[in-house]
Amino acid sequence: MTEHDDPSRDRLKHHFAQRVIHQARHLLEIWQNLSRSEWNSAGMADLREAALRLQRHAERFEQAEHAQLAASVCACLDAVQDNRGRLTSELISEFNRLMQRLSRTGLRHGDQLEQTQLPPLRKPVYLALQDVERAERLSQQLEFFGLHAQPCDSANAFRSAMAERHPAALVMDIDFAGAGNGLGLAEEVQAGLAHKLPVLFFSHTETDTPTRLAAARAGGQDFFSGTLDASGVLEKIETLTRVAHYDPFRVLIVDDSRAQATHTEMVLNGAGIVTRALTAPLSVMAELAEFQPDLIILDMYMPECLGTELAKVIRQHERYVSVPIIYLSAEDDLDKQLDAMSEGGDDFLTKPIKPRHLIATVRNRAARARSLKARMVRDSLTGLFNHTHTLQLLDDACYRSRREGQPLTFAMLDIDHFKKVNDTYGHPMGDRVIKSLALFLKQRLRKTDHIGRYGGEEFAVVLPDTDAESAVRVLEEIRQRFAEIRYPAHPNDLTCTFSCGIAQLIDPMDVTTLAKRADEALYRAKHGGRNRVELFEHL
Ligand code: GH3
Ligand code: MG
Ligand code: MG
Repeated sequence: MTEHDDPSRDRLKHHFAQRVIHQARHLLEIWQNLSRSEWNSAGMADLREAALRLQRHAERFEQAEHAQLAASVCACLDAVQDNRGRLTSELISEFNRLMQRLSRTGLRHGDQLEQTQLPPLRKPVYLALQDVERAERLSQQLEFFGLHAQPCDSANAFRSAMAERHPAALVMDIDFAGAGNGLGLAEEVQAGLAHKLPVLFFSHTETDTPTRLAAARAGGQDFFSGTLDASGVLEKIETLTRVAHYDPFRVLIVDDSRAQATHTEMVLNGAGIVTRALTAPLSVMAELAEFQPDLIILDMYMPECLGTELAKVIRQHERYVSVPIIYLSAEDDLDKQLDAMSEGGDDFLTKPIKPRHLIATVRNRAARARSLKARMVRDSLTGLFNHTHTLQLLDDACYRSRREGQPLTFAMLDIDHFKKVNDTYGHPMGDRVIKSLALFLKQRLRKTDHIGRYGGEEFAVVLPDTDAESAVRVLEEIRQRFAEIRYPAHPNDLTCTFSCGIAQLIDPMDVTTLAKRADEALYRAKHGGRNRVELFEHL
């Protein structure tokens, strides 16, 4: 308690303002749960209550942006009510925009932006490992990346931790508290929970399929064996607990019957899915480019063309080879259905279809397609965006920045004297350093920033809504902290630094110029002695 007895009013104010963040998070959680299930009236009532509470807190503690966002969420809920309780694509998108802004709104303290991001996880991660010392070590390493991990040293310690508070995720050794006991324990604590915990099972030795099956049945989302390194664990936890994929799914419906299209839209909108309906199949290509759907629903029989013919045309375009296509039709002849599937379709649904069935099919297919796409744009060593995709993201961000009149900065990072790391400690060690910088950037930057691996030991960061000054501040801090990381090695521990160049988008300027300027600033940082952040100077 004594550390809270600071007499400074500022600190007290800060302490209370922190509650605004908690309220914001609560609101985000409710919204996320709604997005995963169906938007029912009880859920919307919870959302309203949370928004009102956030608004009250934000007003009391003078957090204008939070207050305004909370009020907008309420206005959106009013609009749903006025529409007889029905969501529309516009309202879904508006909710989504508000929640995205909320998730990246920091606390303002005086005139200074107090924090540019929400802390990554509020709840701790429980580590239940047979080897207690190892758990302690892992916890310390995870802490360094800003993740709060709590080791449990016995079954009872674990049970009482669970009784006190549910973790954000659980890392469970299958041999925790006795050979094979971990599985049962994980199952036991999850019995009766409305939302299952993300569980990561670990085994010291290589395991057989039956054990893995048992782990999957006990709620395990992933399985680790062998060594348990901090970066691997962190990466898994990141994906399991990701605060949200804030983007609702987008579905394009092509159906010559306006009534059928409207019905499909209504069902999907009710589940928080954004739709667009097209009754003229021939304009599908233009619509695809503009709307960028995650999935397409095609009517089988239309006067202008068959659904299967349209699917063929869509598939001829490289960009859309992997967008899932679902046929929706009254056709119940199995042979014809199979034919249709071989024409570039992924699924065949027969009308009339139960809303729940349609929603589930669309969600599963769209989610799978997104994760496949995610793999295509990512670098395999670090999980960051690859060079090409980073530039595409920069391009999109430039476009948005111009449209919204918000600043945008681009940063390039390059590890210093990296060749020496490889030469002295070996290539695998070099890889570890690259991975750890990737993780470090992910942990320290906002979810809305795009981080890419630009080349071997080069990284690029797109920072939307950020001016050069703030970007320098953020990257300067990252630079200092990164230089403090010690990698255990022989004969001496290793430390690494990086140099960084930053440029801000000034209109009129194209993406290539912006990237070139960041590169020039990086060059200056290298020549100025390395281990520093340089800003491109506008003359
Ligand atoms: P500077 O401070 O000027 O950046 O010096 P440097 O040694 O870091 O720069 P240089 O570009 O000369 O060397 C980069 C080295 O990075 C060369 C290459 O072998 C190594 N490298 C590139 N990609 C990888 C990788 O994926 N893994 C490992 N271990 N090394 C890599
Ligand atoms: Mg280099
Ligand atoms: Mg280098």
